[in-house]
Amino acid sequence: MAEAVCSHLETITTVKHAKHRQCDECVKIGAQWVHLRTCQTCGVTLCCDSSPNRHASKHARASDHPVIASAEPGERWLYCYPDDGLLEY
Ligand SMILES: [Zn+2]
Ligand SMILES: [Zn+2]
Ligand SMILES: [Zn+2]
Repeated sequence: MAEAVCSHLETITTVKHAKHRQCDECVKIGAQWVHLRTCQTCGVTLCCDSSPNRHASKHARASDHPVIASAEPGERWLYCYPDDGLLEY
């Protein structure tokens, strides 16, 4: 792991990966998504801020779960919403 940029990213020792390659909230409402992100607090996989419904950032605010990981193949980074911190691993 590279040097952590905030206290939230510092606490991540094992990256949670996506269990399903879909945004469960988008599937419920029949919406489309662009990229997928996995919450590092509870492990839920939701859609990114480029997607129309932005479920990952809504979840982060509503649940106070600060850090997500990219769930896209080949992308290895974590992002902290409150600190706008990005960490590649
Ligand atoms: Zn942080
Ligand atoms: Zn979604
Ligand atoms: Zn969560």
